[in-house]
Amino acid sequence: MKDELSSASCAQCANPLKGIAGRRLGLCADCVTKAPGDLGRRARAIVQIAADAGHHLHDDPSKLVTSAGLLRLLETRPDSGGNVSAVPGVKLTGKWATAVVEALRA
Ligand SMILES: [Zn+2]
Repeated sequence: MKDELSSASCAQCANPLKGIAGRRLGLCADCVTKAPGDLGRRARAIVQIAADAGHHLHDDPSKLVTSAGLLRLLETRPDSGGNVSAVPGVKLTGKWATAVVEALRA
């Protein structure tokens, strides 16, 4: 069995994983949204929240939650809106951050 902690490339597409969160998950930000099970479901929910927030705030969803930010959210699973907002690469606040907390709990 492969040691995911020491793996520096995505298990799906073999792209290099730059951040610690991606290495722990073993997937890049593209593939994590296609992953089966809870991980993929949470990833897709966060991408959808970022898209909704971007639509309402007239901002670019990929700036509200960057690829690295998405992986960090999935890996650390912050349990409050304030902790979501504090994640590097995540610019969601208020109800959007709360929605992320709920998506990560699901
Ligand atoms: Zn990948």
